[in-house]
Amino acid sequence: MRALYPGSFDPLTNGHMDLIERAASLFGGVIVAVLSNPNKKPVFRVEQRIAQIQASTAYLDGIEVISFDGLTVNCAETHRADLILRGLRAMSDFEYELQIAHTNRSLDETLETVFLATSARHSFLSSSVVKEVARFGGTIDHMVPEVVAKDLIKLFNSAFPPR
Ligand code: ADP
Repeated sequence: MRALYPGSFDPLTNGHMDLIERAASLFGGVIVAVLSNPNKKPVFRVEQRIAQIQASTAYLDGIEVISFDGLTVNCAETHRADLILRGLRAMSDFEYELQIAHTNRSLDETLETVFLATSARHSFLSSSVVKEVARFGGTIDHMVPEVVAKDLIKLFNSAFPPR
């Protein structure tokens, strides 16, 4: 079975990585689908986010990284995915994720959404938290893959050069 893992990944965190790694051993293939919607005002362009994910998952077999815009169900159909994969960190994720899963099922009833619970050590991680810590010069090495840490440091050093 091929899983489609859609998200903003702005940027990829160790929480996303944990999910991708575990999905890679559960499913025959994992397509990481990066949302390119500019209305979300991402800090990294979609090409950069794709490059970060490709570099960070190069050691895994069966991972494909693509960009998409529009409906996730259409993306799943185009890329012949059998299921949508999403992660759950806490109860606060649940309500929103359940609503999306029901919406997607109402659009395509053959497409199931599968949730993986985050590993406890990554449950506090989100792309927003990582950006916030990086913006103020905090240590992010334990939160994101190496390539992402480098890109974040470069980004915030050029936005707020050290005096
Ligand atoms: P979106 O904007 O679609 O929520 P994200 O990149 O924030 O995109 O998240 C994509 C998916 O990864 C979501 O299902 C989210 O719950 C999951 N996710 C985000 N952070 C973590 C984490 N720390 N551990 C496990 N799953 C996570």
